[in-house]
Amino acid sequence: MREHYLPYCLPSIGEAEIAEVVDSLRSGWVTTGPKVKRFEEDFQRYVGARHAIAVSSCTTALHLSLAAHQIGQGDEVIVPAMTFCATANVVVHLGARPVLVDVDENGLLDPEQLQKAITPKTRAIVPVHYAGQSCDLDRIWSLADQFRLHVVEDAAHAVGTTYKGRRIGGYHSAAAFSFYATKNMTTGEGGMVTTSDDALASRIRRLSLHGMSRDAWNRYSEKGSWYYEVTEPGYKGNMTDIQAAIGLHQLARLQGFIARRREIAGRYDRRLERLSSIELPKALSDRGHVYHLYPIRLKAGLDRSAFIESLKARRIGASVHFVPLYRHPYYRSLGYRPEQFPVAERIYSGTVSLPLYPGMTDADVEDVIAAVSDLAERPASGSEGTELEAVCN
Ligand SMILES: *Cc1c(COP(=O)(O)O)cnc(C)c1O
Repeated sequence: MREHYLPYCLPSIGEAEIAEVVDSLRSGWVTTGPKVKRFEEDFQRYVGARHAIAVSSCTTALHLSLAAHQIGQGDEVIVPAMTFCATANVVVHLGARPVLVDVDENGLLDPEQLQKAITPKTRAIVPVHYAGQSCDLDRIWSLADQFRLHVVEDAAHAVGTTYKGRRIGGYHSAAAFSFYATKNMTTGEGGMVTTSDDALASRIRRLSLHGMSRDAWNRYSEKGSWYYEVTEPGYKGNMTDIQAAIGLHQLARLQGFIARRREIAGRYDRRLERLSSIELPKALSDRGHVYHLYPIRLKAGLDRSAFIESLKARRIGASVHFVPLYRHPYYRSLGYRPEQFPVAERIYSGTVSLPLYPGMTDADVEDVIAAVSDLAERPASGSEGTELEAVCN
């Protein structure tokens, strides 16, 4: 038995992050300022985009990107059926209708189902790079070209993910990243939009700060000017220098984080492969997986709730990604039913995300492997156990 509870996830915050936050606090410049600017430049360079706009969350990044594409009343936006609620909620906030589409066996938006869901009202597609692995972007972009649709990538899991050799966010469509506490790098709360479309970038930036003209954040510095203009009623979604202070150092450490995540995933792959009652996540050959999640699938005979409870009893945390959108009362009220999404249903029924983060020690990883192996090999209660009892009687 473990001495300490192994949380499902933990951020890796170092002394450099702490010192940088203290520096911001002492400097007197606590909201959007020079550190946000530096963080944006570093991030834009890292993914290979022309622009990066730091915002308060990935939810805000998605919202502002769709707003900048002028999505609104009467429009339809296609989202995968199995994602975090934010992907679809922002579509609702803009007055448009989220159209849910089934995923493939890897939890990624299925291009064939996507094509079937396109109507004359469709304006945009929001593919989710689930678990840290890229969607089939070429097929999605080719449909988008054919039907003149915008693509806004939900890259909440995908900072550092590559698709055909290039990083997500460095291609032409807008991509929205998350720096929430559980994600591959964190600023506590925070997000980023990257794009190489100049007009789109300046629109998103303006919308992120009340619709005020450019560099409004700078108006209290020596070089700034008191005058600004509001060109449209924007939102309040800017990132603070306190968050960027953390982000600067997290980004510098990101490749190390990713390497450790891959190492742990590789160990899970090798050691859990022999278990016939669970399926492991697949890494596709033309995508660089960053393993934000390691979702295993329990086959019939293993009860998911009991499995997670038993892990917890062994002081190991686990989670489920995700309860599909159509299972939430609000999205059900839009008319969606589980029968319409057979693949998402199949995945959801048995999915369990194992702990996977850079701060895990090799001993932590071994504990997870031992616990999962033990639980997966145990006969389901009420079957073999009863038989044995019957024989003994
Ligand atoms: C975490 C997450 C979001 C939202 O990110 P925030 O930064 O918390 O707003 C959006 N989409 C997916 C798929 C996520 O996992």
